[in-house]
Amino acid sequence: MMTEADPPLRRPVPVEEPWSAAYWAGARERELRITRCDACERYVHPPQPVCPSCLHDGLTAIRVSGRGQIYGFSVMHLPGVPGFEPPFVVAVVELDEQPGLLAVGNVLHCELPDIAVGMPVEVTFEDLDDAMTLPQWQPVGSG
Ligand code: ZN
Repeated sequence: MMTEADPPLRRPVPVEEPWSAAYWAGARERELRITRCDACERYVHPPQPVCPSCLHDGLTAIRVSGRGQIYGFSVMHLPGVPGFEPPFVVAVVELDEQPGLLAVGNVLHCELPDIAVGMPVEVTFEDLDDAMTLPQWQPVGSG
């Protein structure tokens, strides 16, 4: 049981896998790199070892525009998610590079009433610690 003397629970961090290493390395370098299939040239996200469209196992992470629009979102008002201070927004963003290419993240630097489906967003980067940087989203031009 938690007491007031316990440190706050830390936010969980993603686990880096061999097929997602370029994605996380890109984030640390302030670039959004999305995996693309070398055979059918479809973008694939989240990173995975095999293309779900053609089953080719050669995929390359390349820098993309970092632009998209909000496809759906939820505003979390209740406390209890370790490492997150409510209210915060979890959004699914459809990237400009390909219809149906979706990425999940928080929307930062935005007033909650302004958030809407279809709102143009751009990538921004949130450093959690020396080793992990998360691609996140913000309204275009707000950074
Ligand atoms: Zn493919």
